[in-house]
Amino acid sequence: MANLLYAEYEEKVRPYIDLIDSLRKLGLNKDLPLPTIVVIGDQSSGKSSVLEMLSEVALPRGTGIVTRCPLELKMKNGTMASQWKGQLTYGDVSLTLNTPQDVEEEIKKAQKHLAGKTGISSELISLQVESPCAPNLTLIDLPGIIRVPIGNQPQDIGNMIKKLIHTYIGKEETIILVVIACNVDIATTEALKMAQEVDPNGDRTLGVLTKPDLIDRDTEKDILKIINNQMVPLRKGYMLIKCRGQHDLIANTSLANALEKEIAFFNDNVHFRPLLEKKIASFQHLSSRLTNELVLQIRKCLPAMQEKIGSKINEIVKQLDKMGGAIPEDPTTRVHNLTRRILGYCDEIITLAMGEYKKDYSIDMKLHDFARDKFAEWYKKLDGVKIGSKVETACNTLALQHFSSFPLLVSEIQIKIAEVCHKMERKAEEMLNINFKMEAMVYAPDEMYSYKLMEFQSRGQQKGNNSVASSNFDAQAMVIHLHTYYQIAIDRLVQMVPMVLRYYLLQELSAHMKVELAQLLFHSKDVDALIQENDETAEQRRELKNNLDRLTQARNLLMNY
Ligand code: GDP
Ligand code: MG
Repeated sequence: MANLLYAEYEEKVRPYIDLIDSLRKLGLNKDLPLPTIVVIGDQSSGKSSVLEMLSEVALPRGTGIVTRCPLELKMKNGTMASQWKGQLTYGDVSLTLNTPQDVEEEIKKAQKHLAGKTGISSELISLQVESPCAPNLTLIDLPGIIRVPIGNQPQDIGNMIKKLIHTYIGKEETIILVVIACNVDIATTEALKMAQEVDPNGDRTLGVLTKPDLIDRDTEKDILKIINNQMVPLRKGYMLIKCRGQHDLIANTSLANALEKEIAFFNDNVHFRPLLEKKIASFQHLSSRLTNELVLQIRKCLPAMQEKIGSKINEIVKQLDKMGGAIPEDPTTRVHNLTRRILGYCDEIITLAMGEYKKDYSIDMKLHDFARDKFAEWYKKLDGVKIGSKVETACNTLALQHFSSFPLLVSEIQIKIAEVCHKMERKAEEMLNINFKMEAMVYAPDEMYSYKLMEFQSRGQQKGNNSVASSNFDAQAMVIHLHTYYQIAIDRLVQMVPMVLRYYLLQELSAHMKVELAQLLFHSKDVDALIQENDETAEQRRELKNNLDRLTQARNLLMNY
C-alpha cells in the first residue's frame, strides 16, 4: 500500500475493522449480526476465484458444488517482513497452517467432516490468513445456487442452499457481493434475484462481474451497459474483474502473476481501459472498495448495535433478577445472601396471609348468621380455623416461587411453615375454646343486660304481643331472658373470633415464621446442601452471566466510537 493511503487507512479504516474483529472475538455474533460482506453467486460464477484473488490463497475450486459450507475468510494485512500465517477453525477443531498450499486440502477435509461427502452444511468454517499482500477484510463465501441436484445429492439441496444464503443476506448488516459471470444472461441470474428480494433498492448490494475474457467478440458494450446500471440497477453499482481461468490453472499461473495479467488485460481492451481509471475494474480497486464499503457499513450500524446491546443487557439483568440476582460463589456470603432473601420472603407472608384472610370474608358473615342458631352449634359451624391451612398453602407456593432453584432449602422452609402454622392454629383454637367456655358461664354486666332486655321486650310489644297469657308466663319470660343473653354473647363473639384469628394466624404466624426462618441456615447441620442450587438453574445462571459479561465488554468497546 502506498504510504499516503496507508496513513489514511490507519486513521479512518483500521479502528472500525479492528472493532468488529474484537467484537467477533468476544463472540458478539452470537447475540447480534455484525456487519460483514457475504459473497453469493450462481454455481461456477467465480465466487471462490474472487476470494482467492483477494486473499492470494488458493481455495478449493472445480465443477459441481465445491463450496459446501459457509467459509469465513478473515484477511489481515501483515507487515512486509511478516510470514504468511493461517489458522483454520471449524467445530471444535483449530489448525495452524504453515503455507497457503495447505489451505485447499484442509478446507476439503473440513467440509467432509461437517457435511459428509456430497451434502451441504450451515456450520461455518473459518479461515484466518495474515500476509503482507492481504487486505484487512472479512468475507463469507457461501455455496453456489444450483437448480438441479446431480448424482447422490439430496433432492432438496437447491432449497437448502437458498435457505442458507437467505440467513446471511437477510440481515440488514450484511453487504451482499453478487458474483455474476459476464458470459451468462444477467436477467436469469438467481443470486441477483435473491439479493433483490432482500434488498430491493440495492442499498447494500454490490455486483461483481467475472470472466470478461470469455465473452464473445465485440460484446463489451453489453457488459458496459450492465456496469452503467442500465440493465439491473444497483445503488452501489458493479465492478469488473478477471480471475484465473482454466488456462491459468493448467499453466499453474500464480495468484500474484494472475493479478498482473488482469491489469494487462484491462489495459489492452479499449472498452474496459476507462473502467480502470474510474476504479471500477481490477482486484486492486475491488479490494479497497470493499474495505471502504465495510467501514461505511460498520459506521452505519453502530448506533443500532449499541441500542441492541443495551436492551439485551437490560433483558438479562431482569432475568437474573428474577432468579434472585447474582448468587455469590463463596459459601458464607451465599448464606447471608440467602438469609436476606428469606427475610424478604417473610415480609411478604403477612401481606399474603392478609390476602387469604380477606378472600375468606365469609368467616365474618357466617358469624353473623350464628344469631339464628343455637349456642352449642356455633362452634361446630365455625370453620374459621381453616384459614390456617389456607395460609400454609399460600406460604408454600410463595416459597417455591422464591427458592425453586434450591430444592432442599424449599423443603426445609416448608417444614418450618407447617410447624409454625400448626402451632398457631392450635393456639387460636385454644383461645376460641376458652372464649366459648367463658360464654357458657353466662355473664353479662347488669346495665348491658337490662338494656338488651328492654330492647327485646319493646320489639315484642310493637308486634302486638303486649298481653301475655298467665299460664305461659314463666316459660315466656324464660325465652325472653335466654334470647337476651344470646344477643349479648353473639355480639361479643362476632368481635372476638375474627380478632383471635387475625392475631394468631396473621400476626403471630408471620412473626414466628420470621424468627424461625432467619435462623434456618445458621442452625442447619447441612447448610452446604441447603445452599446448593440445582444444576439446571446453576447452568442457566452461568450462561446468563457469560452473556452479560460479553455484552458488557462489547458495550465498553463501543463506547469509544
Ligand atoms: P464458484 O463456483 O462460483 O466458486 O466458481 P469458481 O471460482 O470455482 O469458478 C468456476 C470456474 O470459472 C473455474 O474454472 C474458474 O477458473 C473459472 N473462472 C472464474 N473466474 C474467471 C475469469 O475471470 N476468467 C476465466 N477465464 N475463468 C474464470
Ligand atoms: Mg466456490
